Amino acid sequence: MRKTEQLLKDFSGIAGNPAAQLKALTAVGKKVVGCMPYYCPEELILAAGMVPFGLWGAEMQISESKRYFPAFICSLLQTTLELGIRGKLEGLSAVMVPMLCDSLKGMGANWEYGVKNIPVIPVAHAQNRKTEAGILFTASQMRKIRGQLDALSGKSMTDADIAAAIALKNRQRASLRAFARLAPSYPDLITPSLRSAVLKSAYFMEPAAHTEKLDALLTALSDEMPSEWDGLSVVTTGILADSPDLLRILEENRVRIVDDQVAQESLSFREDVPVTSDPIRGLAERMAAIEGCCVLFDLGKKRGAMLIDQVKQSGADGVFYILTKFCDPDEYDYVPIRRMLDEAGIPCLLLEVDQQMKNYEQARTAIEAFAEMHRLERR
Ligand code: SF4
Repeated sequence: MRKTEQLLKDFSGIAGNPAAQLKALTAVGKKVVGCMPYYCPEELILAAGMVPFGLWGAEMQISESKRYFPAFICSLLQTTLELGIRGKLEGLSAVMVPMLCDSLKGMGANWEYGVKNIPVIPVAHAQNRKTEAGILFTASQMRKIRGQLDALSGKSMTDADIAAAIALKNRQRASLRAFARLAPSYPDLITPSLRSAVLKSAYFMEPAAHTEKLDALLTALSDEMPSEWDGLSVVTTGILADSPDLLRILEENRVRIVDDQVAQESLSFREDVPVTSDPIRGLAERMAAIEGCCVLFDLGKKRGAMLIDQVKQSGADGVFYILTKFCDPDEYDYVPIRRMLDEAGIPCLLLEVDQQMKNYEQARTAIEAFAEMHRLERR
């Protein structure tokens, strides 16, 4: 097996089995802190000598979490709580819960009732995050979290520890950006499933180890010949785009992902933390700089303009709006974003996903029709 294929297989195994990663980390005595979406201060966890671990739900059926959440809450939260209640996240020292949407606001309390042995660290970000007051508020919350992590680790992190953690994460983000830029040139090798696996595995590995592996992949790719592509090219947007069934349907229809505006993917690594004399302020300034995310206040819907730009720059055939079922922020965004794309003459396909969904036949039909229409247009 070629080096590239072996590395891609490794990433696929890691992204496909977070439980094994958690077990491996705790087995060697690491303290691990779960990070619910979105934008947890992973740098503070690292500075405290612990490991951040992404919690993005799971493809599974739920039973226990129904006692805490009504049926119309997104599957991301339902399945994450289900994993916690069933003891599948045993070993976590704490779980960080941001409050960037209405559903997340109830998650912390539900977790405390349902999962007794893993404490919650609430993460509050200012919604008016760009104003000086907003930056000061977010920084004040980061300082509070710093104290909670110090208590958890039993030692006080220094500003130098935080600065070192910021450098480590910025380095990882740079490699992730390089991979996302390079992947579309190897569409037969880096399928949508494998692209997703490489990006998603970042949540379940120590940053240094993930960056080392990713850099090895980037080096191995430089020995590969970029390939021609006669299939479709799309930009994806949404919260999650990691459903194995959906990604398989993309592959079967020869659709490659040339760029994304997905919370779990590029939105998580597009902005670095700026180097500032007070590293905590740097964390808050990064939050102020992130654009195009449906859970962050987005005056004028820059997300739409950014998508139009991404399509133009990448030469994509259109946008796949991958909507997580029962996700209010992304549902609200769909109407203005769709209008902006329509006005720009950019085709947009809405695809609904749900981690409890078994049948993707509706999505299959829509993707097949979209692909066929574009093939006919090209003739
Ligand atoms: S933003 Fe959407 S998907 Fe994310 S937790 Fe809130 S409702 Fe769920």
